[in-house]
Amino acid sequence: MRFVQDCIFCKMANGEVPTDFVYEDELVVAFDDINPQAPVHALIVPRAHHTTPGDGVGAELAAALFSAIPSVARAKGVADSGYRVIINAGRDANQSVHHLHIHILGARSMSHRMLRFLDESE
Ligand code: AMP
Ligand code: ZN
Repeated sequence: MRFVQDCIFCKMANGEVPTDFVYEDELVVAFDDINPQAPVHALIVPRAHHTTPGDGVGAELAAALFSAIPSVARAKGVADSGYRVIINAGRDANQSVHHLHIHILGARSMSHRMLRFLDESE
């Protein structure tokens, strides 16, 4: 399994940094975002290090990541009310932690507009 020594999500997902998981299975874990951008903001993180969806994620892990989404939504109480799912991949998406993760955001009604751009005024 790929493990990167100075990667915070590798450390959290593999027990080097104690973390409360809201969901876990053999391949993925989920925990609350440290800087939540909605009342519910959880991250689904593979135990193995991949930087983006294009970085060697096989079918088994892809399935585990995708099927963790409703499990985390249930655990966080937003399965019925709804939630938004985001993956930031690479520079233009402003990915800040370079270990693949899926954001689950909910418990607030969100805009029809999915995106804002950095050069845009409010
Ligand atoms: P991204 O911009 O998609 O790379 O998102 C990285 C996310 O990880 C941000 O929402 C951060 O708040 C979150 N984050 C960074 N460090 C931690 C941490 N130690 N525990 C929980 N969430 C974190
Ligand atoms: Zn990592």
